[in-house]
Amino acid sequence: MSATRIDGKAFAANLRERVGALAADFESKAGRKAGLAVVLVGDDAASQVYVRSKGKATVAANMESFGHLLPSDTSEADLLALVEKLNADPRVDGILVQLPLPGHLDEQAIIAAIAPDKDVDGFHVINAGRLSVGQTGFVPCTPLGCIMLLTDRLGDLSGLEAVVIGRSNIVGKPMAQLLLDANATVTIAHSRTKDLPAVVRRADIVVAAVGRPEMVKKDWLKDGATVIDVGINRLPPEPGAEKGKLVGDVAFGEASEVAAAITPVPGGVGPMTIAVLLRNTLVAAHRNAGIELVD
Ligand code: NDP
Repeated sequence: MSATRIDGKAFAANLRERVGALAADFESKAGRKAGLAVVLVGDDAASQVYVRSKGKATVAANMESFGHLLPSDTSEADLLALVEKLNADPRVDGILVQLPLPGHLDEQAIIAAIAPDKDVDGFHVINAGRLSVGQTGFVPCTPLGCIMLLTDRLGDLSGLEAVVIGRSNIVGKPMAQLLLDANATVTIAHSRTKDLPAVVRRADIVVAAVGRPEMVKKDWLKDGATVIDVGINRLPPEPGAEKGKLVGDVAFGEASEVAAAITPVPGGVGPMTIAVLLRNTLVAAHRNAGIELVD
């Protein structure tokens, strides 16, 4: 058997287009564009690339992008003051502070300062709490993108066995919560899990969010499993090459022989994250303006 490739790139392009159309509709109703502010502290090259592409995607989706690029020695007080200013700015519906922050800044304190209703990354404890008790809030973009791909592929997830590998606050835990909300039977595995391959073999749905290149092997998977690979790992470069290849947490080639469907890396979960960020911003704009979002 050869698994179906779950095309996150195409799904994300479609979602961005839909968000763009709804954002244009929002502008005509609200008399202003939906706005996303992205704050980057320091000159980390990878973060700069992410922030630039978020800005471009925001504008392409008919929303306003407010970029704030701060020097790496910005004080916590100055960063908090900027967050407060953005909280109070009616043109700003969503605020994203690009992580990781330089070591002298307390990430938790900064995230806690973002108004929960503008926290489109879903990292604020209020939003984590809302997710866990089933209230409306904002859900972190990557796991929300994963559940969209899963329900698109499988429809009703009720009663399916799901194993999430990884328990981070931004991916593993909210992913497990979303699967639980969708009535799957959920196991969360992590670095202390005993006999991980045996645990993963029970799963109809595997979500790997670990950060270890090609860790999940073919013989860890049940026949016909659906596999969502969140991991993004760069292998060391081949001789003569400038950059190493990007791979996920799942050994894609061999896993494809057993799985029914699998996301590739790149082109699977990755593109979903920005698309969902735009969707969360659109939702925030409607809530902030008191306009119903008809999707
Ligand atoms: P973290 O490092 O925060 O969490 C990794 C998790 O994996 C931890 O819970 C850890 O367990 C677990 N783990 C580590 N080693 C093992 C092991 N040998 N066996 C089982 N579990 C293990 O990572 P993130 O959740 O932030 O990210 C995970 C991956 O997803 C990374 O590759 C990251 O680059 C990628 N990512 C991709 C995104 C996208 O847009 N596609 C967005 C966000 C992340 P423990 O808790 O016990 O230490």
